[in-house]
This record gives sequence, structure tokens and C-alpha cells, in this order.
Amino acid sequence: MNRGGVPIARIAGIKISADWSVLVIGALLAWGVAGGAVPAYAPGTALWLAWTVGVISALLLIGSLTAHEMGHALLARHRGLTVDGIRLWLFGGVAQISGDWMTGRTEMLVAAIGPAVSFLLVGVFVAASWLLISVGAPTLVTIVPEWLAGLNLLLLVFNLIPAFPLDGGRILRGFLWTRTKNRMTATVAASRAGSFFAVVLMGVGVLDLFFGDPIGGLWLMMIGWFLHTAARGEAHGEQTRHALEGMLVGDVMSKNPVIVPSWITVELLVDQYVMGHEFTSFPTHSIDGRIDGLVTMRGIKQVPPQQRSARRAIDIAIAADRVPIARPDEHITDLLKRIGAASDGRAMVYDGGTLVGIVSPSDIARLFQTGPGRMTARVAA
Ligand SMILES: [Zn+2]
Repeated sequence: MNRGGVPIARIAGIKISADWSVLVIGALLAWGVAGGAVPAYAPGTALWLAWTVGVISALLLIGSLTAHEMGHALLARHRGLTVDGIRLWLFGGVAQISGDWMTGRTEMLVAAIGPAVSFLLVGVFVAASWLLISVGAPTLVTIVPEWLAGLNLLLLVFNLIPAFPLDGGRILRGFLWTRTKNRMTATVAASRAGSFFAVVLMGVGVLDLFFGDPIGGLWLMMIGWFLHTAARGEAHGEQTRHALEGMLVGDVMSKNPVIVPSWITVELLVDQYVMGHEFTSFPTHSIDGRIDGLVTMRGIKQVPPQQRSARRAIDIAIAADRVPIARPDEHITDLLKRIGAASDGRAMVYDGGTLVGIVSPSDIARLFQTGPGRMTARVAA
């Protein structure tokens, strides 16, 4: 689920995990304070003390990032979305939210809460540094809230750039979606803004790499590349979702599957059924007529030719209870959520107790081979 994330805490029922790359960003941040801010504002500080201040500052900034994501996660949960947790990684944090946004307004609010939390944190750290200065605390101490206020402000401004999938881009999409009532066009517009900004960022990174600060340049290029990939992914996912919207299982499935006796040998199955039909999977029935399995071409190919006469269809079939069942009048998008690897990407379609069709990966793939004309037609509709 978390792709290598290590669970570190659970706050208000929300799981927080960290990727190993957080150590890289943590070390860079601590280095920035210990080797940059401390020597500049408190010269002569012992190295160990500078690093202690650096590490504390870095931890507090990672805490700030977590608070920002926590804002997204808690509001999303409050609005009925599923929150899988918060993952911290190289480029900050991600609140892993699944489920449908339902309305543009929900997306706008959930996106806006993160920058609102960052804004609050800027205020808290500004107040803390003002308080510390007024009681005469040493510079080495006042550096910490000042640095945190500055970086939270930077984070706030960066996140508000209207480029999908940054928070600002999500606010923009939610806004356009509410205005136009069309999620698809809103996503495409916000993703274009995202790709444009990503290219600008990479361009600035390249200039920085050659004429300025090479590490900063490389960093900007990486963030730009990440944003570009994410913006394109979001646009593509939305187009896929849109293309399938309103399509029923009955429209997509391969109708009238050939049902074979489960006790015949694989050899007989190949000679009598596989050769003569275009189907890629065959349901099997037991002696009492019950559907008890589904043989796929993959299963057949795994049997060496010399063993085909010794093994029966049922031996290589996927057990019927492991294959998802669908109805012809069900939306294909609902079925896709249930189809898993256990059934080789297939489902059996029943109409009132009778097996009427099979949905296979090639049926789904066919939907996308109809070309952009169909996609446009659906967008216009
Ligand atoms: Zn955010």
C-alpha cells in the first residue's frame, strides 16, 4: 500500500508513514540550518550545537509538513472520503485520499485547508520568535522559529501556485468544476496549467544548474519533472474515467460464453473448444450443471503439451468463488474496482442466475481502441 513507507505514528486515527527519502530531505534541511543560518546569524557557534539546532529545526519542519497534510486528511474524512493515511517522502507529504470528490466544492475546501494550516503555522512561528526576542533569548534560539516561519511561508506560496496537482491547482480545478459543472474540462485546464508550470520550473532549474547553484537547479528540475508526470497522470486518469462513465457491463462483456464440462482433459479442451472459438476464457460446469470454475488461456499455456492428457479442465481453472460476479446492468466502473489479480482480470456476468457473459482484460482494452473520436463525442455530450 505505502510502497516502502515505514509507519511512524497514528494521529486521530490517521496513519502516518515515511519513505526512506525523508532522511535525505531531513539531512538537507538540517544542513541548511547548521551550515547556513547558524554561521550567518550566530557566528562562532560550536559545530555540535549548530547541528543540534539544525536537527531540531528539520524535525519541526517535517512536523509542519505533517500538520499541513493532516489538515487535508481530516477534512477529507469529514467530507466522507476515504483517507488511507499520510506519506512523507522526498518532496514533502502526500495525504492519500481515495474515493470520489463528488463535488468541486469539496475538492476546493479539502485543497484549501492545507495552505490554511501552513498560514496558521507561519503566524505561530512569527509570534514565537517575537516572544523569544522580547524576553531576550539568544540568537541561536530565535533563529529556529524565524527559519520555520520563512520555510512555511515558502511552502504556502509554492502550494498555492494554480498548477494541478498542487493545492492551488486543485483549488482551481474545484473552482472551474463548480463553475462549468464539467469535471473533465476543469481537470484538463488545471492539468495544462500544471504541465506549463512544471516546464517553467525545469527551465529555471536548467539555468540554475549552469549559471547559479547546481544543487538547487537539480532540485528544481526534479520537482518540475515530478509535477509534469503527476499533471499528465491526473489528466489521463480523468479521461479514462470519463470514457468509461455511463457504460454498462452488458455493453462491454463477451456474450454467450462457451461453458465446458469441468472433467474433460486439457487436451480435449484445447482441441474441441479453444481452437474453434475466439474466447480467451471458458467457464466450467460440474456434473450437476453448476458453474465451478473459469479456465483462462494463461492457465492452459502453463500446462506442458505432454501433460495435457493427464490433467483436467478443473485442475487448471480458477475456482468460481474467486472470480468476481457482475450484473449486465451494472456500471463498468463499479465492476473495475472489484476485479483483481486473483481472477486474472476477469469477471463472470450473471442475469438472474444464468451466466450470460465474461468480462476480460481484452474487452476493457477494446474500449480504448475506438480512438479519440469517441472520447471527444463523450466529452461533448
Ligand atoms: Zn497540500
